[in-house]
Amino acid sequence: MRHDRFHGRVQAEGRLCHAPGCGEPGEFRAPGVRPPGADGPGDYRWFCLDHVRQFNAGYDFFAGMTADEIMAAQSPMAGWASQTRAFRPDANIDQAPRWADFADPLDAIAQRARMRREDAIHRQEAARRGIGPEERAAYDLLGLGFEADRKALRSRYSELVRRYHPDRNGGDRSHEGRLQGVVEAYNLLKASAAFS
Ligand SMILES: [Zn+2]
Repeated sequence: MRHDRFHGRVQAEGRLCHAPGCGEPGEFRAPGVRPPGADGPGDYRWFCLDHVRQFNAGYDFFAGMTADEIMAAQSPMAGWASQTRAFRPDANIDQAPRWADFADPLDAIAQRARMRREDAIHRQEAARRGIGPEERAAYDLLGLGFEADRKALRSRYSELVRRYHPDRNGGDRSHEGRLQGVVEAYNLLKASAAFS
């Protein structure tokens, strides 16, 4: 790495600024998705000068963007599909056990238990509305009732994308599996008869 005379600036060598839609060279380093720790030396994300200042100030890069715009700007699924582990910037031995960081979070397990309890009633109601098992699971994952309309679907999707996106969580990827499920469930329902 070559540093020039500006403090903290590192030759971009093709890197682009991490901020959505910014085409400037990424010359300033900020904490990345994977922190230094037990898993290795860690990595970084790179910003232009304006955006590293905003990053350091806790600026919300996604303010005013729709969920679809956030996803398009970051294309998180492309890079995440190859990752089987989620990494926490604060990962530490006195925190949650490492297995809790895997793509199947505890709340998904709790949700399955809840679904089993309510399954009989739930199935009957779904059948009455012509909703199949895959779509039913998608409603559950998004926490939506079968009466939800298009507006409710989009609103919940936006809320969950924002909640689970690593760039809204200081690069914390522990919600990676959750976000992936949200995106898949949304795409399934969006195309389904109930929302057409
Ligand atoms: Zn930038």
